[in-house]
Amino acid sequence: MLSARNLAKAFGSNVVLRDIDLDIRRGQVVALIGPSGSGKTTVLRSLNGLEVPDAGTVTFAGSAASAGPGLAIDFSAKVGKKDIAALRDRSAMVFQHYNLFPHMTVLKNIIEGPVQVQKRPRAEAIEEAERLLARVGLADKRDSYPFELSGGQQQRVGIVRALALKPQLLLFDEPTSALDPELVGEVLGVIKELAEEGWTMVIVTHELAFAQHVADEVIFMDGGVVVERGPAAEVLRAPRQERTKLFVKRLQ
Ligand code: ATP
Repeated sequence: MLSARNLAKAFGSNVVLRDIDLDIRRGQVVALIGPSGSGKTTVLRSLNGLEVPDAGTVTFAGSAASAGPGLAIDFSAKVGKKDIAALRDRSAMVFQHYNLFPHMTVLKNIIEGPVQVQKRPRAEAIEEAERLLARVGLADKRDSYPFELSGGQQQRVGIVRALALKPQLLLFDEPTSALDPELVGEVLGVIKELAEEGWTMVIVTHELAFAQHVADEVIFMDGGVVVERGPAAEVLRAPRQERTKLFVKRLQ
């Protein structure tokens, strides 16, 4: 469904990504792991145009859900605003720090994208938002403001906001690392349910036990390159590369 080839990115003289290849099938859950600064977040942001790589390609297959043809972007060529908008339309991001609009209610946060960007009818967007909120146990928080919610509740709203965009691909950037330990479970539980429902997801996470449980494939990055990739149990339980062994050992 998604294929990225030779993604490269530098911030000034700091080369952050080198020749990153990714292939994600529909319904697959991929966990991206690696030390701080290894480039995981930059990969995620490159997949949905929040960051523009210096080179490489990203290709999305067409799908009934996105009601359109495939999309191919070559970052080595000139990439216009329309390309970025088309790329952004394919996926939705769940951020580490939730990134909810503080001055908007939960409901408004969720319907903003569908109504303002995707031009969906407001009534339909509200109905969908209410359905999704009920699903994550937050029906009664519809009219609350983010500051009135716990971190775990805010992140569940962040997930609902992503789902409301009906993306082909869900991207999670360390979705639990800002949470108090006792709130991590409620968010991981929602993500696990989404995996079971067949959502296609890329998850940057330091929760290795969770990655092993939920991911089909684990990719270990270090220094802007993919060091090792494979089935979750293999990479996390029996890694082949020394760098992966050291990383996995430290966190378990
Ligand atoms: P972490 O686990 O700490 O979030 P990461 O593996 O996700 O790390 P990235 O956030 O992708 O790593 O960062 C990779 C490198 O790119 C780091 O050296 C970081 O300082 C740098 N970097 C990221 N974004 C920018 C930016 N907008 N401007 C300059 N440098 C950046």
